Amino acid sequence: MAQIYDLVQYLETLAPLALQESYDNCGLLVGNISLDLKGILITLDVTEQVVQEALDKRCNVIVAHHPIIFKGLKKLTPDTYTQRTVLAAIKHDIAIYVMHTNLDNVWLGVNHKIAQKLGLENCKPLQTLTSSLAKLTFYSPSSHTHKVLAAIHAVGAGVVGNYTQCAFTTTGTGQFQPNDLAKPFLGIAQQLEKVNEDRVEVIFPLYLQSSILYQLKATHPYEEPAFDVSVLANNHPQLGAGRYGTLAQPMLPKDFMVYLKEKLSLTLVRHTTFVNKPIRTVALCGGSGSFLFGAAQKAKADVYISSDFKYHDFFDADQHTMIADINHYEAEYFTKELIYEYLNQKFANIALVLSKVNTNPISYL
Ligand SMILES: [Zn+2]
Repeated sequence: MAQIYDLVQYLETLAPLALQESYDNCGLLVGNISLDLKGILITLDVTEQVVQEALDKRCNVIVAHHPIIFKGLKKLTPDTYTQRTVLAAIKHDIAIYVMHTNLDNVWLGVNHKIAQKLGLENCKPLQTLTSSLAKLTFYSPSSHTHKVLAAIHAVGAGVVGNYTQCAFTTTGTGQFQPNDLAKPFLGIAQQLEKVNEDRVEVIFPLYLQSSILYQLKATHPYEEPAFDVSVLANNHPQLGAGRYGTLAQPMLPKDFMVYLKEKLSLTLVRHTTFVNKPIRTVALCGGSGSFLFGAAQKAKADVYISSDFKYHDFFDADQHTMIADINHYEAEYFTKELIYEYLNQKFANIALVLSKVNTNPISYL
């Protein structure tokens, strides 16, 4: 039987914790990874009702988007909803796992799902993550380069857009002198050895560093493989916040708002004055994304869709880029569907339940 550990491992391959924002609190927040995985309840928010729903539906793990423990939790008394929810989960042995900004920043994450619902094409992140791309340079006897490269490519090194197994190799002469304690693959103690070697350069997303270096060391024939890692000033093109892309057919602003409302099943859209041109480039960010409005302008978006804009934020809109403010819960509603699709690929034999509790704290008259 699968354990909660297997679920955590799988989710962290899809949305690595290293990709969460510094203020965030993703990962396993409550629970024990060594327990059996009985059923998974998928929700946007964790509330007391959601914990009760998990219990009723025999799910012992809740996978949520928003972290129930976000600020410091200093006591566990029934004083606040956060404390009551965590207490209830612990009491009933229900684990809580959270994928939040790490799921926002991956390519096939929250914003991908919203862009897909709106039929956007040629999508890119609005703001790529800094320090997200690195380059590994290693030196290997030419006879072994293929084996080492194959091993690091297999764990995700050398992917550039739609190209895999990318690398650059030059040949030259490496030299070393083993001491008496060394167990060299080539050469004799206290004698200078010169070897035909390859210098291989491969780029990789920085979050994969430990597994790539593990494979390098496991497959390289030398006792002390020579390598170095540099974090690059160019960012990973697919990792980052927000998304922008184009509509297959441009729409008049008013028609686009109706389309947006319908495609995302929204209660209402709060928007700035209609721009005097058709909407073609659409930028968006699931959640509180007003901080990305400047990035949307830079991307020459005709409209920027996000949530939680304040009154004064709306004055930032101009004749080129409109703001469309939509309800945070409704904007991220499809994240449940996304998590379900992820889980169904790996845990199809485990009960996967989409929460029916409406956790939206905002009502409309
Ligand atoms: Zn959110």
